Amino acid sequence: MAFLGRRVGQWPAPNIRSTLRTASRIAASILSAAIAAPLVAQVNVVTTTPDLADVVRTIGGDDVDVHTLTTGEEDLHLVTVRPSFLVQVHRADVFVQLGFDAEHAWVPALLQKAKNRAVRPGGAGFCDASVGVTPLQVPASVTRDAGPDLHPRGNPHYNLDPRRMKTVARNVRDCLVRVDEAHRAGYFERHAAFEEAIDRHHATWKKLLEPCRGSAFIENHRTWIYFADAFDLRIVGSLEPRPGLPPSAKHLADIIELAKRENVRLVVARPRFAELARRVAKDCGADARILQIGSLASGRGWLAFMDDIVAQFASVLGPGVSEAGDDGSRDRDVKGRGEGGRGARGSGEPDRNRSRCP
Ligand SMILES: [Zn+2]
Repeated sequence: MAFLGRRVGQWPAPNIRSTLRTASRIAASILSAAIAAPLVAQVNVVTTTPDLADVVRTIGGDDVDVHTLTTGEEDLHLVTVRPSFLVQVHRADVFVQLGFDAEHAWVPALLQKAKNRAVRPGGAGFCDASVGVTPLQVPASVTRDAGPDLHPRGNPHYNLDPRRMKTVARNVRDCLVRVDEAHRAGYFERHAAFEEAIDRHHATWKKLLEPCRGSAFIENHRTWIYFADAFDLRIVGSLEPRPGLPPSAKHLADIIELAKRENVRLVVARPRFAELARRVAKDCGADARILQIGSLASGRGWLAFMDDIVAQFASVLGPGVSEAGDDGSRDRDVKGRGEGGRGARGSGEPDRNRSRCP
């Protein structure tokens, strides 16, 4: 046995080693060939959010391969960098961020560690989508009292405003042209079609929300200012006393009092604040809508997401319940897109006359 064992142990080993060496040489050469000359010459784009990925996909068409680092369900201010992020950003030709410090807690470190100069600020492949976007809620001064989610350059949730998303679309187009001049015509053509689609949808959204102009609502985090600005709605308070801070009992009592005074009929919140939002809504005689604040990676893109949230606002603030409230279309939207959240159905009891806007 010892003899056999030695034979078994010694004789094949050099061959296995050489086979492994050959295999790894082949793998390495395949890998380097793949890196040097990809079969499909697409621009590799990495974005921080699904909204941005959707814009890139729409304008880039078949000329791009795009991946979003987040699913849309995370808190964009508090994302944990995974090793896969480093690999994706290392290989990227273009990196697109929302900007206004929305990703300040994780993107600067990610770009530093990913060892890809082309997609760092100053590189041809770095695209800050917020360039040229007019910010709202820029603090006069930034102190620790402002809360954990500091946004010294203004509120970063501008993806809820179609006018500002047109600026984003132009930024994305220009960045794609910069790194892939050969496909310039395609980028311009698809960008023009996207702008037209935004205008078309925007007109419909304005029409749907026109009867609600001036209506008041409450949010959970300071997220909806751009949406309110675009459609002339009023935010009268936030469940968070300061961005990123949980509310005290006193703050909630104040908010409920304020909501009653201001005739608030809608409380909007992200899924993780659903229970609180429903409780506050019940206490002030309003409806709660549990909404995402951007499209989901599993959803049908930014325009469809906006269709959905506009329908949700109109269902509470718009004239009449039956046409925009609990009909089949909203049910289909919520299930089909994975957006809007289950609360859209679970919390909107149509038991009151909602036929008026203030
Ligand atoms: Zn925020």
